Amino acid sequence: MNIVIIELITCVVIPLIALHIFKFIVPKFSHNKIQKYQNNNIYKADSSNSLASKLQREISERQRIETELEKSLFLQKATLESTKDAILILDNLDTVLGFNQNFLDIWGISELLVKSGNYKKFLIIALKKIERPRHYLSIFIKLNQNTDIQLNEINEINETILFKDGRIFNAYCQRQQLGEKKIGIVWSFRDVTVEKLALNTIQYHTLYDLLTNLPNRVLFNSLLMTSLEKADHNYNLAVCFLDLDRFKKINDSLGHAIGDQLLQMVAQRIRQCLRPGDTIARWGGDEFTIILPEISNSEDITLIQERIFAAFKQGFKIDNHHLNISPSIGIALYPQHGKDAETLIKNADAALSRVKLQGRNQYKLYHPAINSQATELFILENSLHQALERQEFKVYYQPQVNSSTGEITKMEALLRWEHPELGLIPPATFIPIAEETGLILPISEWVLKTACLQNKTWQETLNFPSLSVAVNLSTRQFQQLNLVSMVQQVLLETNLEPQYLELEITETVAMQDVELSRKILKELDKIGLTISIDDFGTGYSSLSYLKDFPIHALKIDQSFVRDLVNGDNQTAITTAIIALAHGLNLAVVAEGVETEEQFNLLRILECEVMQGYLFSHPLSAEEATRMLRAYK
Ligand code: C2E
Ligand code: MG
Ligand code: MG
Repeated sequence: MNIVIIELITCVVIPLIALHIFKFIVPKFSHNKIQKYQNNNIYKADSSNSLASKLQREISERQRIETELEKSLFLQKATLESTKDAILILDNLDTVLGFNQNFLDIWGISELLVKSGNYKKFLIIALKKIERPRHYLSIFIKLNQNTDIQLNEINEINETILFKDGRIFNAYCQRQQLGEKKIGIVWSFRDVTVEKLALNTIQYHTLYDLLTNLPNRVLFNSLLMTSLEKADHNYNLAVCFLDLDRFKKINDSLGHAIGDQLLQMVAQRIRQCLRPGDTIARWGGDEFTIILPEISNSEDITLIQERIFAAFKQGFKIDNHHLNISPSIGIALYPQHGKDAETLIKNADAALSRVKLQGRNQYKLYHPAINSQATELFILENSLHQALERQEFKVYYQPQVNSSTGEITKMEALLRWEHPELGLIPPATFIPIAEETGLILPISEWVLKTACLQNKTWQETLNFPSLSVAVNLSTRQFQQLNLVSMVQQVLLETNLEPQYLELEITETVAMQDVELSRKILKELDKIGLTISIDDFGTGYSSLSYLKDFPIHALKIDQSFVRDLVNGDNQTAITTAIIALAHGLNLAVVAEGVETEEQFNLLRILECEVMQGYLFSHPLSAEEATRMLRAYK
C-alpha cells in the first residue's frame, strides 16, 4: 500500500473531517447554548460570576480547539503539498475535502473549479485527457454506487492511467473509515512515465531485435505457438529458416557497420515480400525465421519464395558498395513436418542445412530423409580431414575460349569432392568448412600441384605448348606466409613455366589486407605468373586497387552475364567492366556464358575470352583430355 496514503489517512483525512464537523456542529451548539443562557437570564440582575466564568471558559475552550484545528489544517496542507503525488480527498457525497497543487497541475484543473465543488465538471475535464475514458468512468460509477466495496476490492482497481499526451500515472484509491462508518475516499496519482517507458524499452528489447526491429527468437517462438493454436487442418502453416549466403565474407571484409546496414535492408526487403499476416523474425546473426500461416497449397510457398529470391536479385547499395547476396531457405510445413513449434523449427533448419550442402541460393522443403542428413555438415567436417588421404578430391577443368579464334587458351581448375556416401559435393559447400578448419591449405596445395602437372602434361603430350591453367586461391591461402615460396616450389616440382599459371583471387580476398596483398601480388608478379580478379563486380567496389596491384585480367561475374539482355542494367555494368579492363590494359573474361545470345552480345561488347556451359561444363581430367584431343 502506498505509504503516502497511510499518512494521509491518519494526518489529513480524519482531522479534515473533524474540522468539518467542528465548523458546522460546535459553533451551532455553542451559539444555541449562549442564546439559551441569555434568554433565561436577561432579567436576572444577579448574574452570577460563576456562570460568566463558565461561559468564558467555554468560549476560550472553543477558541483553543479552533486554533488547534487551524494548526492541524496548516500541517495537513503542508503534508499534502510535500508529496510528489497528486492527491484528491472526497467525502461520501463527493464533496472535495482536500487536494494539492500537484492534483491541479497533473489534471490541468483550476483551483476555482475544484473549490466550487463541481465534481462532475472536473471529472469530465479529467476524462477527456486520458485514454480509455469509459473504462475509468465505469470504475468511478462502481465506487460511487457501492460504498461497501471492501478495501482489498477497491485496491484491485488500482490502475495505470495513460494520458493522451503520453504521461503515465498509477492511480491509487483508498476508502476511509471512522470506526465502522465510511467517511470518504482518497485518490492519489503518481507519475510513473519514466519508469514505465524504461520498462517498456526493456520489454521491447527482450522481444525485439534492436538492429532490425523485427521480433526476436523469443517472440517468434511465442508467435509460432499462437499461430499453431489457430491453424486448422484445412490450411498448412509454413515455417521458413532463411540464412544469408556468405554474409560473413561481407562482414569480415567491409566491416560490421556495412554488415549491419545490409541486415537491416535485407529485413526490410523480405518483409515487403510477405503477406499481411505473415511474420518475419531475426533468429540471430544472418538468420531469419518466417511464419507463413494459411498456406493452402505448395504454389503459395513457391510464390512467396520466388518473390524473396527476386527481391535479392537487385543487389544492395550501401554507401559506395553494391553488394550482391543471396538467401538459402529451408521450409517445414505444419502438420506434415511437425505438429509443434520446436519440431517445425528444427526441421526447417534441417532443410536449410540441405540447401547449404547443395550449393546455397535456393529453397528446399523438408522431407523426413533430411533429418539424417541434418548433421551432414558435421559429418562433412569430420570426413574432410581424411578426404585428401583417401584421394576423394578431383580437379575438374573448364576451358576459356577466345571468342574470335575459337582457341582454347586456358583451363580453369575447379575442385570437386567425391564423397563415398554423399556423392559429388560442390566446392561452395565444403570450401568454407575447409577454410574454417584450416584444411584449405593442404587441399589447395594439392590442387595447385595437380593442375600444374596436368597442364604440363597437356602442353607436352597433346601439343598445346601455350595452354595455361588458372587456379583459384582462397582467403586463408592468401594470408599464408609461405604462399609465394609454396607456389615457386610447385612450379619447380611440376616443371611448369610460370607464365602458364594464373592465380584467381576475388576482390574480397585482395582487399582484406591491402598492404599484404600488394606485397604478395608483387612477389607473384616477379615470379612471372599472372593474376586475375575472379567474380569481378560482386565484392569490393573501390576500383583504386586495380591500378595499384599487378593484375592481368578481370573475370566478369556470371551474375552479370546471366541476366545480360540488350539495353538493361546488367548490360551497362558489363559494358563498363569491359571498358574499364580495356582502359587499364587488362584482359577480360566473361564467366558463365550459357547461350548464343549472351555470346553474341559479349562479342559486340568486345569481350574476347569467355568461359561457360556454352563451350563446356567443367570436365574431369580424362574428359578434358578427350575434349582437347578432339579439339585439336
Ligand atoms: P569460380 O572460380 O567463379 O568458378 C566458376 C564457377 O561457375 C564454377 O562453379 C563453375 O562450375 C561454374 N560455371 C562455369 N560455367 C558456368 C555456366 O555457364 N553457368 C553456370 N551457372 N555456372 C558455370 P564451381 O565449380 O561450383 O565452383 C564454385 C566456386 O568455388 C568457384 O567459383 C571458386 O570460387 C570456388 N572454387 C572452385 N575450386 C576451387 C579451388 O580449388 N580452390 C578454391 N579456393 N576455390 C575453388
Ligand atoms: Mg574462378
Ligand atoms: Mg567466378
